[in-house]
Amino acid sequence: MNELEEIKNRLDIVDVISGYIKLDKAGTNYRACCPFHNEKTASLMVSPAKQIWHCFGCSKGGDIFEFVKEIEGIDFGDALKILANKAGVELKGYNKSNTNQERTERQKTGEVLEQAAKFFEYYLNNSKGGESAKEYLIKRGFDEELIKDWRVGYAPNSFEQLSKFLENRGYNKVYIEKAGLAFLKTNGNLCDRFRSRIIFPFVNINSEIIGFTGRILGKEENVAKYLNTPATLLYDKSKALFGIDKAKVEIRKEDKCILVEGNVDCIMAHKAGTKNVVAVSGTALTELHLKILKRYTSNLIFSFDMDSAGAKATERAIDLAREMGFNVSVLDLKEEKDPADVILKQGKEKWIGIVNSAEKIMDFYFRKAFLDKNIEKVDDKKKIIEELLPQIKKIDNSIEQSFFIQKLADELMVREEDIRKEFSKVRLERREGETETKKKKDTLSQKEKLERQFLKLYLIKKIDVKDFIYLFSEKYKTILEKLEKEEDSSRALEGMEDNNLLSEIFLGAETEREILEANEISVEEEIENCLINLKKIFEEKEKMDLSLRIKNEKNPLETEKLIEEYLSLLKKSYGKEN
Ligand SMILES: [Zn+2]
Repeated sequence: MNELEEIKNRLDIVDVISGYIKLDKAGTNYRACCPFHNEKTASLMVSPAKQIWHCFGCSKGGDIFEFVKEIEGIDFGDALKILANKAGVELKGYNKSNTNQERTERQKTGEVLEQAAKFFEYYLNNSKGGESAKEYLIKRGFDEELIKDWRVGYAPNSFEQLSKFLENRGYNKVYIEKAGLAFLKTNGNLCDRFRSRIIFPFVNINSEIIGFTGRILGKEENVAKYLNTPATLLYDKSKALFGIDKAKVEIRKEDKCILVEGNVDCIMAHKAGTKNVVAVSGTALTELHLKILKRYTSNLIFSFDMDSAGAKATERAIDLAREMGFNVSVLDLKEEKDPADVILKQGKEKWIGIVNSAEKIMDFYFRKAFLDKNIEKVDDKKKIIEELLPQIKKIDNSIEQSFFIQKLADELMVREEDIRKEFSKVRLERREGETETKKKKDTLSQKEKLERQFLKLYLIKKIDVKDFIYLFSEKYKTILEKLEKEEDSSRALEGMEDNNLLSEIFLGAETEREILEANEISVEEEIENCLINLKKIFEEKEKMDLSLRIKNEKNPLETEKLIEEYLSLLKKSYGKEN
């Protein structure tokens, strides 16, 4: 029996799923409100007999792996780890995309960081400096449980205590440095990076420590208030989201995520009962952060500094999120500086009230633009228009755009066509790094990406394609057939119109070969993966067509037959997954 079957045998799908959402018994099956789409009636079914689940609202479904992947927003490898752990099955040699050396390096770095976290936790509870650190934390609203949960620690005021501790445990200096915990001095000794600071660990979605943030205690001068782990094998600040491991399931359930700027804000928000909160500073928010969040929700609530100091960075962050298709709202903290202050001084009810009255971003921009202006004055009218038109331009939907143009015209009591005239002149600056080719690539469908990927692999290794040529669309079918007939690949595609595609495939094949070699992945394995995914897409399409026919079929007997057919398709595709 392989590891996958072993895990499936040991775990019951009802137990796994009810760890995340509430299941109700319905005959031999279970039923729940689907966490993957918005609904009020329960259309997600779980079958203990077949050990599969399926949502009849959004057609997501599969086995336990598929469920954990979806709800945790992780890839198959991570879902495997989580479920193996739950089942008590030891995994051998997974993670095949990394080379052995990198794997050991990651593991070692992770171990060093874990030891360091324990060290910091110990010093928070057992040192003079730790005592004042704890006093500070308690003043800001922490309690013992919270400190333990979030593994808050303290780095003693020493240049070598941590390094010595780690070296005594047998860790090589190089790994201690590589983990971002110390610098190697010219004399060959280590110097600790974090000194006399409160330490907040950064963890990944699996709650493994990847780095630290250190905050100074008092108001020392000439020292940075916050110090972070530098870029390491595990820590990448453009991806790390503070609190994501504790927030992810709640973000999915609530279908929204609140972004705050400080670690303490994040922890306090969790304590106050809003657990769909992560922290990232406005200046640091990247496309990668947003991509990670997109796996969980399309609704973001920013609790960032909207006043002059941080306003520019915040606006950039909000623009980025809007461009990526998020619905953005903002919180108005009124006179308080940050969420932690609101919760500490005014209580959690106040905070929850603020969260519940989050303002949609366009409403916020409108309110702000009209603030302190007199719409009787032409100059003020012009200012308001100048401020709002670029914001309206950023809306991705023309109906919505129209709505706000009209609203603006109404509120300013000017003619809509005049606003439209001005609107047509507005040009948005492109942010750097955003190019046309990138946009073009993103518009390729998942299927076409896979078809291209397959062609590249096919150039590396020709295989017999007749059994699965039906998976490809006409365009790629033709190319494959040409390549099959002619030995010399570049001659085979002579005269093809889509030059862009050809260069991508030929050049891409070279890079692909290098990547596969470097990672010791066989072409055959990769080809198989590619075909499996194409097959999935094909079957999805089959299912969609069938369910459309079911909807349109008037004859009940025929409908019955079609449903039967549909169910066997379902069973077939679930059976094959993973
Ligand atoms: Zn659903």
